[in-house]
Amino acid sequence: MGAGRKLADKLKVDLAAIVIGPEGEATQSAAAESFCYGADLVYMVADNLLADYRNESYTKALTDVVNTYKPEILLLGATTLGRDLAGSVATTLLTGLTADCTELDVDADGSLAATRPTFGGSLLCTIYTLNYRPQMATVRPRVMPMPERVVRPVGRIVSHPLGLVEDDIVTKVLSFLPDRDSAKSNLAYADVVVAGGLGLGSPENFQLVRQLATVLGAEYGCSRPLVQKGWVTSDRQIGQTGKTIRPKLYIAAGISGAIQHRVGVEGADLIVAINTDRNAPIFDFAHMGIVADAIRLLPALTAAFRARLSPHSRDRIAS
Ligand SMILES: Cc1cc2nc3c(=O)[nH]c(=O)nc-3n(C[C@H](O)[C@H](O)[C@H](O)COP(=O)(O)OP(=O)(O)OC[C@H]3O[C@@H](n4cnc5c(N)ncnc54)[C@H](O)[C@@H]3O)c2cc1C
Repeated sequence: MGAGRKLADKLKVDLAAIVIGPEGEATQSAAAESFCYGADLVYMVADNLLADYRNESYTKALTDVVNTYKPEILLLGATTLGRDLAGSVATTLLTGLTADCTELDVDADGSLAATRPTFGGSLLCTIYTLNYRPQMATVRPRVMPMPERVVRPVGRIVSHPLGLVEDDIVTKVLSFLPDRDSAKSNLAYADVVVAGGLGLGSPENFQLVRQLATVLGAEYGCSRPLVQKGWVTSDRQIGQTGKTIRPKLYIAAGISGAIQHRVGVEGADLIVAINTDRNAPIFDFAHMGIVADAIRLLPALTAAFRARLSPHSRDRIAS
């Protein structure tokens, strides 16, 4: 919505949110929230057939709205469902889709300039959809900052019918199974993240990252080689092919700062890098750099924070 607002202002057009869901409170309040994040109007498709995400019904809802109101630009989040939906909507509408953009802008002639990493993240390219409409782009969660929420009255909501019955939809949702991996990461939304890289040398040393994260109440993450080696699960990978994070504090230990890692962390408010090599690329974008052996420094930091953050010392600091 934040990126959409800027594009709409530049083009001097309205920013519309499209809200799709079942009839009732949740969908209504999603529509109301859209105004607080910058929408001028909302197109709403509310139908109980849309209670669970199914590609066919959501594609139908979205393509109908697009075919009726003909937006120049259509943006979606590159979430798991968003990726599924964007692909089939673009295919149904016979238009192009620039996925996983890191920057969105409009040129002087009003065309959407959608920028994304290419060649394994070593280059950025700007892609235009010249001959087809709408111009479609997705952005991964947390790549762009959330716009500030401003309390605004509910504006114009345009309701659009779904025009489907249950028999038209091939996919049936039978049940939901609980997620067996209860330790799954919440990396993308964590305020503090501690991560380790190949410089830690062994999976045993990676435990030093987890210990510091526990004391700080932080999430832990890693660079890609640690996932490839099987030291850490893939939901903990940070970077271009992993999670994008925007924490207040990011501590990177034994990570060189390759471009594919950098693109996933540069939205952090404060990056602290620990590396033995003072010429490591991570020091080019870290806000604070510590040239040190992480295997020795991490336990010292854990001990120091544990002492400082213990309830007893918290009382002492407060008083
Ligand atoms: C298409 C593609 C996608 C990719 N996607 C990702 C991605 O999403 N995320 C990602 O992270 N990578 C990704 N990569 C891999 C990326 O290019 C790098 O290879 C990777 O990030 C390097 O990981 P690293 O920093 O842990 O290891 P290295 O580059 O080997 O760096 C290790 C660092 O540790 C330092 N060090 C050594 N010993 C110590 C010590 N005792 N204490 C402190 N520091 C020490 C070294 O000086 C070095 O700087 C991708 C690559 C490609 C081609």
